[in-house]
Amino acid sequence: MSGSNPILISGGGIGGLVTAYALAQKGFAVRVFEQAPEFKEVGAGIQLGPNIFRVLEKIGLKDEVLADAHIPPSQEMRDAVTGKLITNIPLNGAFRERFGQPYAVIHRADIHSRFLKACQSSKLITLETSRRVDSYEDHGDRVTVTLEGGERADGCALIGCDGMWSKIRERIVGDGRPRVSGHIAYRGVLTRDQVPADLWRPDVVLWAGPRCHFVHYPLRRGELYNLVAVFHSDQYEEGWNTEGNKELLWNHFKGLRPEVLRLLELIDTWRMWVLCDREPVKNWTQGRVALLGDSAHPMLQYLAQGACMATEDAVVLAEKVAAQPNDLPAAFKAYQQERYLRTARVQIMARVYGEFYHARGVTAELRDMAVGGRTAEQSYDGIAWLYGGP
Ligand SMILES: Cc1cc2nc3c(=O)[nH]c(=O)nc-3n(C[C@H](O)[C@H](O)[C@H](O)COP(=O)(O)OP(=O)(O)OC[C@H]3O[C@@H](n4cnc5c(N)ncnc54)[C@H](O)[C@@H]3O)c2cc1C
Repeated sequence: MSGSNPILISGGGIGGLVTAYALAQKGFAVRVFEQAPEFKEVGAGIQLGPNIFRVLEKIGLKDEVLADAHIPPSQEMRDAVTGKLITNIPLNGAFRERFGQPYAVIHRADIHSRFLKACQSSKLITLETSRRVDSYEDHGDRVTVTLEGGERADGCALIGCDGMWSKIRERIVGDGRPRVSGHIAYRGVLTRDQVPADLWRPDVVLWAGPRCHFVHYPLRRGELYNLVAVFHSDQYEEGWNTEGNKELLWNHFKGLRPEVLRLLELIDTWRMWVLCDREPVKNWTQGRVALLGDSAHPMLQYLAQGACMATEDAVVLAEKVAAQPNDLPAAFKAYQQERYLRTARVQIMARVYGEFYHARGVTAELRDMAVGGRTAEQSYDGIAWLYGGP
């Protein structure tokens, strides 16, 4: 590796922090620049497939993440209009045996703070807040980033972990603004005692409705309850986590099952995410600069895999860099080669799942026949390409 220059990371979200930690574990010095005044995650719950635990185990963070998580016994899909059970897939027992790892749900803030603590415990990682990366220059033997305010910093490489609206991607890929999916997510979190006993379920439950769906599951060892309501809308807003309009939500959900409406009523303030993604590409790296996580392959959340893919990326990238520390451009190419098809498949399949969840009429009937007619083992076969990796 060139001199003692650290590897620079732009962005201290889930992807940036886990990448810093995976690289430090291989002995590399890392400097993380986060634009926000503190390292903090907003949002609500995320689901973690067994594939993330396979890579977390490699870097020794599996138990830390599981300590804050909840393990749902099953994943259930119901018709949001009739209440009919469409499918129930057990996530313990045979699932665990098949994939060798658990399925868990966790608050974004909890996984992020576990990654942050791990980074803080490493002498090789420097964490810097209120530091926005504005631009960079790749000199061939090193990279210089220019931070907001004009300060410059040198590194042997730069990894863009700066999310959906990545500045680094703008330079490398240059594909403009993300694609607006036409779907909006409203998210809210309740404490367990706010949830009426007859509505509290330990499982991940998805209510599929016409042009909308609603998901709920417990978080933080069962102390919290996560609600996500998704519906069609052409609204576009850059950035995440603005306040949602309750009336708009009711317009889309009125007429659905009382179990759904009673839970929706309990949230005072919804946070809103306008859901976007991008077309898959395979040019995530250029010389000493690479993209990772949402900056490389932003995806819709319907397969619940954005954070899982960023974590897989991080571990693969660290392995490739460790294998070729004196040729970082080649290490980055090897990382891209190993990752682009898998992540592209998730990007594309997430769109398909979104259409499935929001199906109406005959399409909904076909969906119910297809997923409802499967045994648990057949459901596991269908998702083995994803949960069995990387
Ligand atoms: C509604 C919803 C539900 C989801 N559910 C799941 C799920 O169930 N399972 C799952 O695995 N994933 C899920 N995801 C996806 C997951 O949250 C993201 O894929 C993941 O957070 C991406 O992490 P990241 O670090 O790549 O990007 P981000 O989390 O966007 O982090 C980017 C960081 O970079 C910083 N930054 C940006 N620009 C700059 C700059 N110029 N300089 C310095 N810092 C900068 C930002 O402030 C931020 O901290 C969901 C997403 C949504 C919207």
